[in-house]
Amino acid sequence: MSLIVQKYGGSSVADAAGIKRVARRVVDTQNAGNEVVVVVSAMGDTTDELLDLAAEVADQPPARELDMLMTAGERISMALLAMAIHNLDAVAQSFTGSQAGMITDGIHGKARIIDVDPHRVRTALDKGNIAIVAGFQGMSRQTNEITTMGRGGSDTTAVALAAALDADVCEIYTDVDGVYTADPRVVPSAQKIDRISSEEMLEMAASGAKILHLRCVEYARRFGLPIHVRSSFSDLEGTWVLPSPGDKIKISEGVALEQPIISGVAHDRSEGKVTVVGVPDIPGKAAEIFGIIAGAHSNIDMIVQNISTRGSGKTDISFTLPIVEGADALAALRAAQESVGFESLIYDDQIGKLSLIGAGMRSNPGVSFRFFKALSEAGVNIDLISTSEIRISVVTRADLLDTAVRAVHKAFGLDTEDEVTVYGGTGR
Ligand code: ASP
Ligand code: MG
Repeated sequence: MSLIVQKYGGSSVADAAGIKRVARRVVDTQNAGNEVVVVVSAMGDTTDELLDLAAEVADQPPARELDMLMTAGERISMALLAMAIHNLDAVAQSFTGSQAGMITDGIHGKARIIDVDPHRVRTALDKGNIAIVAGFQGMSRQTNEITTMGRGGSDTTAVALAAALDADVCEIYTDVDGVYTADPRVVPSAQKIDRISSEEMLEMAASGAKILHLRCVEYARRFGLPIHVRSSFSDLEGTWVLPSPGDKIKISEGVALEQPIISGVAHDRSEGKVTVVGVPDIPGKAAEIFGIIAGAHSNIDMIVQNISTRGSGKTDISFTLPIVEGADALAALRAAQESVGFESLIYDDQIGKLSLIGAGMRSNPGVSFRFFKALSEAGVNIDLISTSEIRISVVTRADLLDTAVRAVHKAFGLDTEDEVTVYGGTGR
């Protein structure tokens, strides 16, 4: 008997028909002789709608109450799914994050998992039941509060549970047939990737590919757990994200072993750029600035320090961070302006980030040239550049981002003739 953790995203459980379809799939999986744990997201765009409501009643909703509100979304879908499963003569029990033993730190809105104690889930399975767990939520033992793990966090709930229960596989069900070489909503001619290393998937997720939550990929990699990303609307084989080559899984025959040089193009419009102007060019200033940012719990991404204008003894430091964290980070920096001694701050939230990812980049010269040539031919100006061994990222203007993504995707020969089927979701 295998233990399978299945996670269904919001578009898969968007309405009653969707919930019934998922219930069928879950019961079929159990009837095939497996133990099944299901993690659900909130129905459709519920989380966004709840956030909109919060913004209507308060300028700055308290983080604790936002978490209380948002966890309600997943409770609705978990209970409805349990009912739909009962209707198919199987037994399912739903659990909130805290009931399922998802123990997190106390940081509202982006809590991190510190322990998973799924004994109630295990007991449900031992009784022959299906266990359903509300995604992206947990509780903190220090504060005794309910927390959420950040947008898209249900993927991480699923992987964390799969690791704690020693599951054989974690299946992430979404509204497309797998991970594509670019977001199919921007590049309809993108191709499905059959298998991808967790190293590349990490870079894709960190670069804005929303198909998988970044921390879910980190978690799976750490625990050596394979993830199968696939559609709940079809029976096609999806994309396998493999923590290490040669992993013991059943991959369909004929999948090429030699990976292409480039695995995909990711983009991100959720970041803004802060420039700290006129920072004294002496040791310790960058540490002071990033200490302040860390204190504001901001996740910064690209960092660029310009050379100081000759003789001025001052330099500019730019970095990107999630737009939602911009206000706090700016406030924290402003409060320290005198002690750090910088001149001013500039904030720009009309930027877009594009990243090209591929493990084959390491051993193939000329990738950067082809990349920058494609951008130049598309008339896209570049603002910041950063690289890792297997990624090149640039920041451009937000309104040129789609054009840039299509140009780069094409330049690396990733376009196909067929259009990707997007089964559901609003892309919100
Ligand atoms: N419902 C949450 C969100 O929309 C969590 C998730 O779906 O993963 O971000
Ligand atoms: Mg998601």
